[in-house]
Formats: sequence, C-alpha cells, structure tokens
Amino acid sequence: MRKRTIGVLALQGAVREHLMMLENCGAQGIAVKYPSELFACDGLIIPGGESTTIGKLIVRDGFLEALRKRASEDLPVYGTCAGLIVLARQVTEGNQPLLGLMDIVVRRNAYGRQVDSFEDDLIIKGIQDEEKPFRGIFIRAPWIEEVGPDVEVLCEHKGKVVMARQDRFLVSAFHPELTDDRRVHLYFLDMVKELLS
Ligand code: GLN
Repeated sequence: MRKRTIGVLALQGAVREHLMMLENCGAQGIAVKYPSELFACDGLIIPGGESTTIGKLIVRDGFLEALRKRASEDLPVYGTCAGLIVLARQVTEGNQPLLGLMDIVVRRNAYGRQVDSFEDDLIIKGIQDEEKPFRGIFIRAPWIEEVGPDVEVLCEHKGKVVMARQDRFLVSAFHPELTDDRRVHLYFLDMVKELLS
C-alpha cells in the first residue's frame, strides 16, 4: 500500500515534531508552505504555536480559501492546540482569523498564567486501552467551551473538553507530537485511511 502523505502546515509553530511523529507512524510527512501543496496531501495537521500568528499567515499566504475548499471536498484535518483554535467556529474573546471548520467555541489560554503548562494522564475514547492512559502535554492550552450537535467529544480533562472530532476534523488541546506515544497520530491516520477508502 502506498504511504499516506500528510501535510503539516508550516507557517509557524511545532512543525518538525509532527513530521517526525508521522515518519514514526509509517506515513510521509511534508511541510506545507504554499496552498498548491495541499493538493498533494491525503490529510493535514495544523500544529501548535500562536493561533493569532498562524491565522494571519493563513490569510496572508492565500490559505484561507484553499484550505476551506480542500477541507470541504475531502481533506481530513487535525489541529493541535493553536491548530485547534484555528479550526474553531469561534473564540470566546477577541477577533482573529479562523477557518471555522468545526462547530466548537474555544477559550484560548484557558488554564491561565498560573498553570501555563502541565501534563496529566488522559483517557481518550477510541484510542484507549484502559491500562495505558495517554500522557497529555498542555502548553498555554485552550479548552473547548461549547460543542455543536455533530461534534463527538473524545476526551475530557477535569470536566473540560480537550479533544473532539467532527466528521473528518480532529482537534486536541494537548500535544501528542511531544511524546513518544503514537496513538493519537495513528488514530488520525486511520481516519485518513477510512475516508480515502
Ligand atoms: N496559546 C496559544 C494560542 O492561543 C496556543 C499554544 C500552543 O499551541 N501550544 O494560540
């Protein structure tokens, strides 16, 4: 079987870690810098970083229309942290460019300055073997404040939604690419495989 090609949007943020994780999962990761490169991708990851910056660059570099078009056709997209924010329909505060592909309302920097980064064990629906929780790494993370009717909640941490899926779109508030646990990326690759078959 041909290797899946998964793009990592390379405008700003933690691109390299995703590319390495994709290689470890047996996929081909490519850094996507131009909208035309989206057409070579079977799936796309929008990495963590700074969502206001990524959003501005998405607009500046002509990704807004291209991404919405590819996503509305058949492109599975996974957003981590800032990528989650960019995929949302709305943020609770401020005004920043969003793709609005998922029916979620997101609170940025939701854990506040005091606990700006932390780790905790997570139970994730669909990828979990109960014996082995997933180690979630949260860095100035958002949480999901509201989910629409078509959104499936995959993980809650202390009552807050931190991972969700809507059709071919997946988001997590935490950073699986910073662990050596491949399960979340394999879950996304399974989504890509399902949607292509
Ligand atoms: N706090 C960042 C934002 O609001 C997200 C942080 C991250 O991606 N690790 O965009």
